[in-house]
Amino acid sequence: MRTLKVMSGAMLLALLASVAGRSQAPPPAGSGAVLYEGARLIVGDGSGPVEDGVMLVEQGRFTAVGRRGTVTAPAGATRVDLAGKTVMPAMVNAHVHIGYEGYTTWRAENHTPANVLDHLRREAFYGVAATTSVGTSPTDQALQFQRDQRAGQFPPAARFLFMPGMAPPNGGPDAVLRVATNQLRVVNEVTSPDEARAAIRRMAGQGIGHVKMWVDDRRGTYPKLAPEVFTAIVDEAHGRRMIVHAHAIQLADQKAVVRAGADVLVHMVQSEPIDDEYLALLKAKKPYWATVIGLGDPTAVCNPDPFFEQALPPQLIASIRATKERRPLAPSCGPPSPNAARREEVMSRNFPRMIAAGARLVLATDTGIHPGHTFGSGEHLELARWVRLGLPPAEAIVAATSRPAQLMGLTDLGALAAGRRASFIVLDANPLEDIRNTRRIVDVYLEGERFDREGLLASWRKAWGTR
Ligand SMILES: [Zn+2]
Repeated sequence: MRTLKVMSGAMLLALLASVAGRSQAPPPAGSGAVLYEGARLIVGDGSGPVEDGVMLVEQGRFTAVGRRGTVTAPAGATRVDLAGKTVMPAMVNAHVHIGYEGYTTWRAENHTPANVLDHLRREAFYGVAATTSVGTSPTDQALQFQRDQRAGQFPPAARFLFMPGMAPPNGGPDAVLRVATNQLRVVNEVTSPDEARAAIRRMAGQGIGHVKMWVDDRRGTYPKLAPEVFTAIVDEAHGRRMIVHAHAIQLADQKAVVRAGADVLVHMVQSEPIDDEYLALLKAKKPYWATVIGLGDPTAVCNPDPFFEQALPPQLIASIRATKERRPLAPSCGPPSPNAARREEVMSRNFPRMIAAGARLVLATDTGIHPGHTFGSGEHLELARWVRLGLPPAEAIVAATSRPAQLMGLTDLGALAAGRRASFIVLDANPLEDIRNTRRIVDVYLEGERFDREGLLASWRKAWGTR
């Protein structure tokens, strides 16, 4: 009781001081409002760019966005000159694997709230406003993290989204990620429709809106999720207004999950050309589609590039460059695989046909699946990959902003528009001319606040002893 009394006294004094401070200086009208002027605005909804645009931001949200002269700022608003710059919405990533990467180690023991936050801050550094950990985050810890982040207990970072995953016993992610997820008992293992329905009901009861299922046998290493089980997953999930993401890499499996009603296709068929039957299915169902092809193509750090190197410890970069043999999914800098040319040919045929048939492309990277991939930079690789496969840059930006925001139910992110959160990237070159200009980041703003990129960079350098 004595301790409590002493603390209350000190807290009371602090409280009185802050109240007094506030009452003496009432905020002037318009204070807190910021007018960003003169930039080219890429709204993110597919509309043409707004040249010489202005954005009015108040209390973390856009209150007006338009051409100069169409927006009136309140008296006392701060003005920020962005002439010569291009602004696009901060990105939304629909698929990563957060928590295991430690840059010198990669393991289940790394999965702490502090490491999750570190990954989310890396995403923010590279212009990502929200990112989704898919199927590999421990549910209770993830829910707690979301509550804490919503309550404002963490420094600024990308918003954390997650969804549980479902697979047959010992199934789920690739062999490396599976070692870690098994240790944390993350994957919901199901063998029958009843078990699948019960698992979905549990998730719905926790307020979870998305679920992932793996329909794959990883080259015959475990039995594939049976059609009656994944059909039950989709049926039960839809009955509870949940969205189903389906991992499938073979044409027959993609057809089966789309036919069953999966809402989001994860991965691209790279081993065979897609056929007319599949195109007809896509036209009818119009699933969202996460290609997840950017990470290893080729590994970003094989050639010196500060954009990628700045977020990685030098010893990790050196070890990736020294790795010449190809390992599935892991970064390496050897010669391309003998199948690469054939795969590229299939992809350049399948990609535009998927889009033309109505597959709704969304940004997803699979970052964190394996040691050595950093969070945030993979997004820029994925965008560039799409454009190389023929997608116009303006459409790539929609697929990285408003569309994944819509998929993930983030009505407050993904576009430069009144009412949305002021989360945006300031670039010093136009990505509509060259998609790689998304890497020319001057500043990132999250909910109206300038993200401290320099501070984060300095903290990495200090940790690595490179400063
Ligand atoms: Zn994945």
